[in-house]
Amino acid sequence: MRLWRYILFLVFGSLYVYAAYAAHAGAQAAEWTLYRFEGRDYVSLDNLEAFYGFPIQVTPAGNRITVDSGKAQLELILNSREIVINGVTQWLAFPVHPQEGKILISRLDLAKTIEPLLRPWMIQQFQAVRNVVLDPGHGGYDKGALSSQGCEKDFALDVCRRARARLEAEGFRVFLTRDSDVFVPLEERPRAANRMPNSVFVSVHFNCSVENPSASGFEVFALTPRGAPSTTDDVLSLRDLRSEPGNVVDTQSMALAASVYHSMLGSIPEADRGIKRARFAVIRLATVPSILVEGGFLTNPSDSMLIANPEWREKLAAAIVTGLDGFKRLAENKEPPKLLADYRRELPSSVTLRDSGAVLTNAKAAPQVIIPRTIWMTQPFLSR
Ligand SMILES: [Zn+2]
Repeated sequence: MRLWRYILFLVFGSLYVYAAYAAHAGAQAAEWTLYRFEGRDYVSLDNLEAFYGFPIQVTPAGNRITVDSGKAQLELILNSREIVINGVTQWLAFPVHPQEGKILISRLDLAKTIEPLLRPWMIQQFQAVRNVVLDPGHGGYDKGALSSQGCEKDFALDVCRRARARLEAEGFRVFLTRDSDVFVPLEERPRAANRMPNSVFVSVHFNCSVENPSASGFEVFALTPRGAPSTTDDVLSLRDLRSEPGNVVDTQSMALAASVYHSMLGSIPEADRGIKRARFAVIRLATVPSILVEGGFLTNPSDSMLIANPEWREKLAAAIVTGLDGFKRLAENKEPPKLLADYRRELPSSVTLRDSGAVLTNAKAAPQVIIPRTIWMTQPFLSR
């Protein structure tokens, strides 16, 4: 029964997508050739280069391909889910797949990650941003990650209080899911945001890695799109095909993640572990743009020293607020948020970024026969 539902989803899901493409009228008509591989649609890199105005047919350097239009940069790694977009690491749902002289990128990654980052002003159905729900992770009996200097629940609450003061000074209405050392059930946390029109939801956490104490740096999570595995999962499971409440704002959440992440990395010299995907309850159940910020590792000696420093936490709160300001201007005025390079230009030149010590799996795709077919689309990657 489950298998049949999966097959029906693949068949009718694809038909729906083509119908939706055809229904959109837009200025930038393009011919897109879709390639079918492992039951999914892919597009080729040269197709993508033409659509976004990148130089065409760039040759790989080793397993990396870098394309630069002067306004936007992409760095792809063959057979890897890791991609660098405008100087910042992102994690795709499926590896970039070289096949028969083509370099293929999944249509889902194009729609849910690449398009909202390269053309955030094209995202549909933005609402004004007047309210911010800040969610300090953990609380009460749930201490979260620990270092010799303190615990995650206290640092997260402190950063949220600092961000609240800054946001209120700018005229935002701010709500904290907890303002004391209590545990609030996860499913209750996004409810306040869901009830509040014109709101965004930001959960604040600090990381830990017992296996790898050298792991350090920032991460931001946005909800995994329907039909994609989360960043830590190597394979697709049936659960990944379910639609979650937060999937209605997938592309807005990705734009929010990028605006906050570029600001964090641009103002604080921490390692870039990337914008990742997960189905954490707090972002899965939020029906407004939502992200989960990981502000460094309490298990890493130098990260934990920084996190214990109130001045550094103030910087982190300020960076999150700057990212939220950028998202507000995008949502309300279609103004593209500042990128890492824009922030870097304002940083002292002596500041260098740290290595994350990140060890992440890159699911490999086995070579298979692909069947190309050509279709016409106008605005092919709009969010749904
Ligand atoms: Zn946490």
